[in-house]
Amino acid sequence: MCAQFSPEEETLFEKTGATVLKRLRKTRNPADLLSAISSAHKEFDRAFASAPADARGMVACRAGCDACCHVPVGVQAHEVLIAAQHVQTHFSPEELDALIARAAAHREAFAGRSNAGRTALKTPCVLLRNGSCSIYGARPEACRSHHSNNAEACRTNLASGREDIDVYIPRVRGRMFAVMLAIDQAVAEAGFDGHAYDFGSALHEALINNLCAVRWVQRQPAFPESCREASEMDDGDSGVMHAEGYFQ
Ligand code: SF4
Repeated sequence: MCAQFSPEEETLFEKTGATVLKRLRKTRNPADLLSAISSAHKEFDRAFASAPADARGMVACRAGCDACCHVPVGVQAHEVLIAAQHVQTHFSPEELDALIARAAAHREAFAGRSNAGRTALKTPCVLLRNGSCSIYGARPEACRSHHSNNAEACRTNLASGREDIDVYIPRVRGRMFAVMLAIDQAVAEAGFDGHAYDFGSALHEALINNLCAVRWVQRQPAFPESCREASEMDDGDSGVMHAEGYFQ
């Protein structure tokens, strides 16, 4: 499928995708569709645990280290709806109101900006609270997939606006990407919205408009074009996310 995967990662990709697709096709109750995808998120933990011990030992990410939560997060619609569901069932009314206000400000700041312009804002994710993720169990796939071998370099990258200091751990990253891409492609293959959205903007829409979830279940685009990732709007691309794009 993707030339950059090792044979082991390719197998992980194929198995995860087939499992998610089968689950989605078997699920008859629309209310259970998101749970069918959420349960596949356990594959990220299994994939991480299967990485060689020395590669896992290189991970420098720690609680309270939040540099990677200050860059735009690209997601598919199901990830936004899973996060919105978590927020609606775990946040107090006051917390929910405050989150909607932060997400509205984020959306306004991102509107009309290129991807580089959005990154340059260094805006903290609307769900970052005291240096930690406030929806950790329901966080998007990109957040689950990212591991750094150098926390200081992450902070330097953020402060300088540079993106050229390589902090990746290939033997961990390949596995995590295999799972992420498998889930995303299975969801799109099952006919659900495969567009790339900006997480904060789409989350705002999901929290103020119940029809987003309805549209997703009906296999329509869940969010308006204004919530799309800047690269998708720049390219005028109306299609789904492509695996190869993650490796560019
Ligand atoms: S969802 Fe959580 S982990 Fe992801 S960027 Fe936001 S705060 Fe960070």
